[in-house]
Amino acid sequence: MSITHRPNSEALYEEALLHIAGGVNSPSRSFKAVGGGAPVFMERACGAYFWDVDGNRYIDYLAAYGPIITGHAHPHITGAIVRAAQNGTLYGTPTELEIKLAKMLKDAIPSLDKVRFVNSGTEAVMTTIRVARAYTKRSKIIKFAGCYHGHSDLVLVAAGSGPSTLGIPDSAGIPTTIAQEVITVPFNDLDGLKAALEHWGDDVAAVMVEPIVGNFGMVMPEPGFLEGLCKLARDAGALVIYDEVISAFRFHYGSAQTFKAFQDHKAIEPDLTALGKIIGGGLPIGAYGGRKEIMEQIAPLGPAYQAGTMAGNPASISAGIACLEVLQTPGVYERMNRLAIMLAEGLQQAADQHGIDITINRIRGSFSAHFCNHPVTNYEEAQDTDGERFARFFQLMLSEGICLAPSKYEAWFLTTEHSEEDIKQTIEAAERAFAQMAT
Ligand code: PLP
Repeated sequence: MSITHRPNSEALYEEALLHIAGGVNSPSRSFKAVGGGAPVFMERACGAYFWDVDGNRYIDYLAAYGPIITGHAHPHITGAIVRAAQNGTLYGTPTELEIKLAKMLKDAIPSLDKVRFVNSGTEAVMTTIRVARAYTKRSKIIKFAGCYHGHSDLVLVAAGSGPSTLGIPDSAGIPTTIAQEVITVPFNDLDGLKAALEHWGDDVAAVMVEPIVGNFGMVMPEPGFLEGLCKLARDAGALVIYDEVISAFRFHYGSAQTFKAFQDHKAIEPDLTALGKIIGGGLPIGAYGGRKEIMEQIAPLGPAYQAGTMAGNPASISAGIACLEVLQTPGVYERMNRLAIMLAEGLQQAADQHGIDITINRIRGSFSAHFCNHPVTNYEEAQDTDGERFARFFQLMLSEGICLAPSKYEAWFLTTEHSEEDIKQTIEAAERAFAQMAT
């Protein structure tokens, strides 16, 4: 099968450009990084598949950038959403459902004494920063290059040229005064963090990190990195914030901070955690939580304000509960792991066969494939990969009916619904793509 034309997608894109800024509601959906052109307009999705508006079927590894870990339109989640809709989608009052999901999160992630639900990962991260600043009465934040923490002002800041240099805005519209509250250091670089803390220590409210990175490919922290980070931050009187918007419930029923790959869970426990994606089962959600005395800074208990008309709405909460219930099924993570091994090994073999350099970073059921011949352990190394090759591969795979994220930095996500047959078809498609790339 080769999908060469998508006339309906192209027509819809032309129309979308007239009415929606850039034709897309999130820049990551555009095909700017993979050679341009019309993104594929999808019409429906079920299980591991999408169907586009031209009637083509795709195997999906985008998983909506992560939340769709149980596949599309999972009947248990759909049933929960329908029931919630029938009972009214928004009350503006507390509900028992919110307590249920809060308890499920706390049971799975013990560092959460208290949680709050919001509507997106961006909001969750943004509020952890406010709460950390309120608690410590300090203003600066240290983050790591290439980690994405949503689109709020403070975290859309690029690195300065050294640990003592303040950030520069990554986007127009962010005042330099705000960027100067942020220091960016390389991931996996404890010396860089130490130098930044030595320079700015008394001003640093928090060190924020994706404990397992999902935004410049999938990247594990090196042994001792999280332990060292927590120790250095605390010695400097700063809080530790984990952004687990991608990583929570991704690798096992729990979060990165409770992942068995890390030996001493107490030594890597954060003060605050931001959550999103999977915990909403495909509906909009975010959550943050952490130590009781820190969470008590939030209104109505404390002076840090955070609110939300849609926060904790019964539809999102019901979908989240249902999604976590599916993920409690014995064996689901092992199955995703097994299929991801099959796929990653198959891709590697196919690339080797055609002399194409590829580095695959796999963590359980998700992985990233980088066109390079070196390891990828930080953002600099992820940048130093062949974007043009990725763009070619992306387009060839799309024409084979395989849907990947249109960026060399994004991960491939397995879901509970992918089958061995899907993996075989994907490897065969990759073999044909690599063969064409090699010529
Ligand atoms: N944090 C991380 C680690 C993310 O990957 C993302 C989104 O991709 C966010 C925060 C922002 O989440 P949202 O897009 O729900 O605002």
